[in-house]
Amino acid sequence: MEEITALAKRRGFIFQSSEIYGGINGFWDYGPLGAVLKRNVKDAWWRDTVELRDDVVAFDSSIVMHPLTWKASGHVDAFHDVFVDCKVCKHRFRFDHLKDASSCPDCGSKNSFTEPRSFNLMMKTFVGPMDDTSSETYLRPETAQGIFVNFKNVYQTARRRPPFGIAQIGKSFRNEITPGNFTFRVREFEQAELEYFVPDDGNDMDVFREWVERRKAWYASYGIAPGRLRFYELGEKERPHYARAGVDVEYMFPWGWGELESIAHRGTYDLDAHMKLSGKDLQFFDEASKTHYTPLLIESSAGMDRTTLTFLIDAYERETSDDPNGKTTERTVLRFHPKIAPVQVAVFSLARNKPELVERARTVEGSLRPVWRTQYDEGNIGQLYRRQDEIGTPFCVTIDYETLADGSVTVRSRDSMLQDRVPADRLEMHLRERL
Ligand code: ATP
Repeated sequence: MEEITALAKRRGFIFQSSEIYGGINGFWDYGPLGAVLKRNVKDAWWRDTVELRDDVVAFDSSIVMHPLTWKASGHVDAFHDVFVDCKVCKHRFRFDHLKDASSCPDCGSKNSFTEPRSFNLMMKTFVGPMDDTSSETYLRPETAQGIFVNFKNVYQTARRRPPFGIAQIGKSFRNEITPGNFTFRVREFEQAELEYFVPDDGNDMDVFREWVERRKAWYASYGIAPGRLRFYELGEKERPHYARAGVDVEYMFPWGWGELESIAHRGTYDLDAHMKLSGKDLQFFDEASKTHYTPLLIESSAGMDRTTLTFLIDAYERETSDDPNGKTTERTVLRFHPKIAPVQVAVFSLARNKPELVERARTVEGSLRPVWRTQYDEGNIGQLYRRQDEIGTPFCVTIDYETLADGSVTVRSRDSMLQDRVPADRLEMHLRERL
C-alpha cells in the first residue's frame, strides 16, 4: 500500500488535500492522471447502468436538501457510529471495528478505553445568513434521497412505469470517525447510485438477482481479478429490518476485505418514509388499472473513490524479467484495462533536438488525439517506456529516422513489452484492434 500511495503521488494520481497547510484528514485531491482515471471509472458505470439501458433515466440532485429529508430517511436518528478513545495513546477507534474490545490495537494497553459514545456522521451546515438552528441542515450522506423525494416528478415527466430505474453520480459527505486506508474511508466521496423501482408482482427477487449479475459482469469486464472480488450475501441479521435481501461487493485490499458497493432490496421503506413525513403522495398511479401502489425498490450503491482505488491496486504490479542477455530488470507497471487507462497511447520522438522527428511525432500524436487519450513525450526511450508503464499506458508509438524515410513507426505493448514495426497507414487500425 505504501508503494501504491507513493506512486499515486509521484505520478500525479492522488494528493493529500490542502497539503501546503499540513493536509486535512479524510480529504484527497485527484491530480491530472487521477482525475481522468476516476472519470473513466464513473463513465464506465454510467455507460453500463444508464446509457445501455432503455429502462434507466439520469438524475442529478442537490447536495443540500430540506432538513426534514434526513429526519424521514432515518439519518437524523440512526446514522450513528459508536467510538471509544484509548486513554493512554489517545487514539480513537470505531467500536465495531475493534477485534478485541479490551486492549488497544495501537499501544497494546489493557482496559484503557473510554465508555463507548455515539456520534452522528452527517456534516452540519448553515443555509443563508442566520447562523442558528432554524437554518441548520446537512451535506447529504448519500445521493439516494434526492431520487426518492423526486420519484413522482421523474416518473411523470419521463413517462415511465415500474419496472424502471433512476441513476445518479454525485458527492456525499460523512464525518467518519476514523478516516483512513488512503482513499478507502474518506469524509467527502462520490457515489454512483441506481434506484430501480419494480411492481409488487412476484418478480422482485429475480430483478434483484439480475442486478447482482449485471454488476458482477461489470467488474469482470474491466478485468478486476476474480479471486480478489466477492459478492457477500447478507444474512437476515446483517441487513436492516426492512431489507428483503442484500449483497455486499467486496475487494481484497492489502489490509483485508473492504466494501465497494452494496446491492439491496429495500422494499417500500424509503418512499413510505417520505410519504409519511411530508404528507405527499409518492405512489405510482397505474393508468391501465386505475390503481395506486408503492413500488418496491432495488438499490445498487457503489463508491466511486473506492472503485477507483480498487482499479489502481488491482492494476499494480512489480515485475522482474530476464532480458536476452541474461540481465534481470525490474519494472513497475499498472495493468489498467484500456478503457480505464488515463493515457491510452503515448507518442515519442526518439530525439529531443531533431526538429523533423519532433514535428513528425507531434503530427502523429495530433492525428490519434481525436480517437484516444494520447500524450506526447520525447527523450530517452527506455525512460519514457518506464514512465508510461508506471501510469498504465497500454501502447507507446516511437517516431525515429526510419519513420522519416518510409513512414513506419514502432509500437510497443505495455503488457508483452514486444515491439512491432507498423506502416504509417496501418497505425490506427493496429491500435484499434488492440484497444
Ligand atoms: P462502511 O461500512 O465501509 O462505512 P457503508 O456500509 O456505510 O460503508 P453505504 O452506506 O452502503 O456504506 O454506502 C454505499 C457505498 O458508498 C459504499 O459501498 C462505499 O463504496 C461508499 N462509501 C460509503 N462511505 C464511504 C466513505 N467514508 N468513503 C468512501 N466511500 C464510502
